[in-house]
Amino acid sequence: MQVAEQKHPKHDHQICVEDALKLAQELCISRGQRFTDTRQRVLELVWQGHSAVKAYDIIDKFARDGSATKPPTVYRALDFLLEQGLVHRIESLNAYVGCAHPEEGHTSQFLICDNCETVVELETPRLKKALKEAADKAGFSVNQQTVELHGICPHCRAAA
Ligand SMILES: [Zn+2]
Ligand SMILES: [Zn+2]
Ligand SMILES: [Zn+2]
Repeated sequence: MQVAEQKHPKHDHQICVEDALKLAQELCISRGQRFTDTRQRVLELVWQGHSAVKAYDIIDKFARDGSATKPPTVYRALDFLLEQGLVHRIESLNAYVGCAHPEEGHTSQFLICDNCETVVELETPRLKKALKEAADKAGFSVNQQTVELHGICPHCRAAA
């Protein structure tokens, strides 16, 4: 099992944001996609932390910045970022998190802390395989897989 790095609450998050933006820029260039200012700003807002961010919070931020960017533009930018694997949708929260390794296609599982709202991405190929086999056995064709685990992260557990 590959466990995503669990960031300490007090890490230098600016580095995470810079890395994510740089990676996104490179990825868009290599795929012939345009990384417009709006797409970049939306990605930056999703990356404001390691918790899931709701679309209306992003829309709200644009409005407060005095931007003329309208909600449909923000939703289209989010769709683009999803398609490119730069963000993931957290279905149980109806929100988005940034992906730290968007260059590889992957099916992830998410650990969601109900206390600090930190989301950690996991890749567990064995789990993906087991679910695929079970679905195959049931004659079921899978289009989408969502595995989201809610609980308490190690930092919150240590603080409790
Ligand atoms: Zn960070
Ligand atoms: Zn990912
Ligand atoms: Zn926590």
